Amino acid sequence: MAKFELEKLVRPNIWKLEPYSCARTEFTGEASTFLDANENPYNDPYNRYPDPFQVEVKKQIVKVKGSTPKNICLGNGSDETIDLMYRIFCEPKVDNVVAIEPTYGMYRVCADINNVEYRTVLLDENYQFTAESLLAKVDGNTKVIWLCSPNNPTGNALNDAEITKILDSFAGIVVVDEAYIDFSSQESWVAKLNEHANLVILQTFSKAWGSAGIRLGMAFASEEIINLMNKVKYPYNINILTQKQALTLLAGKEKVDEWRKIILAEREQLTKELGKFSFVEKIYPTDANFILVKVSDANKLYSHLVGCGVIVRNRNSVSLCKNCVRISVGSPEENKELVKALTSFSK
Ligand SMILES: *Cc1c(COP(=O)(O)O)cnc(C)c1O
Repeated sequence: MAKFELEKLVRPNIWKLEPYSCARTEFTGEASTFLDANENPYNDPYNRYPDPFQVEVKKQIVKVKGSTPKNICLGNGSDETIDLMYRIFCEPKVDNVVAIEPTYGMYRVCADINNVEYRTVLLDENYQFTAESLLAKVDGNTKVIWLCSPNNPTGNALNDAEITKILDSFAGIVVVDEAYIDFSSQESWVAKLNEHANLVILQTFSKAWGSAGIRLGMAFASEEIINLMNKVKYPYNINILTQKQALTLLAGKEKVDEWRKIILAEREQLTKELGKFSFVEKIYPTDANFILVKVSDANKLYSHLVGCGVIVRNRNSVSLCKNCVRISVGSPEENKELVKALTSFSK
């Protein structure tokens, strides 16, 4: 495999793109009177455009996550950073990407939207993969390999040694989506960012940080890749409310750690409870804040739970997930409700 050369991977139009130059980037110093962005002088602070590069938020993120602000691009949820990978690297109708299957649905949806071929490799019975099987699908037009660890909907962390093999032998971009990393015993790839020029790590405020509603995703990558992402994203993609809320969260990190501890304890408790039901055929090991469970009849169980007002995710039609439901770990009260509903199903 050829060695990693960023310019060869990037769509030519993006490589030579002159990004939109907004008022907030042309002047960044201190001043008393800002009359440069056609903003309304009233309705402070929402009258002002937000910081396009979220300097303060990134400064606080690196205190928690490591890395440096230059290695971070923030998105309107991970969904935006996922879409950016296609818009930066994949020429529609020409290039392709390779992903594990089953995995998070947005990789495919964004491929379809961008008219990019999406190639999949089925995981094995333990929901693991080999570098060899993924690399077998790679050709000269493969720009991105999608990995999700811990993986959704299977819950397990992927084998680090195989991920390393992919990083070392694939000359394109390797995305490792770590949306659930805070619930995992596995170490984040962020610590190894400097060892791999082709690595992009995605994390999010939607899960462990309890903030799915503010839409804030983080991408960690080399400065060169981050510069491309910053150039292509909407200039003001992270609004003021989201930036403020993120700063509040980051300042009160102890609370987030507490939530995580409770959720991990509840995950263990719920796993034990689930094991007691005769209709539960398999509880898959999980590194995430959800549990994939194989039952005797997922459609029937799902309908029963809906009738009880408890909604889980029916994954029956997903590859390798026949008769599986994916259950998010809730609060102690919510989990009790679930167990009550499961008990009435078994009767
Ligand atoms: C939930 C989830 C995300 C989060 O996406 P956001 O757009 O940040 O809410 C990303 N990746 C995976 C695999 C997920 O399951």
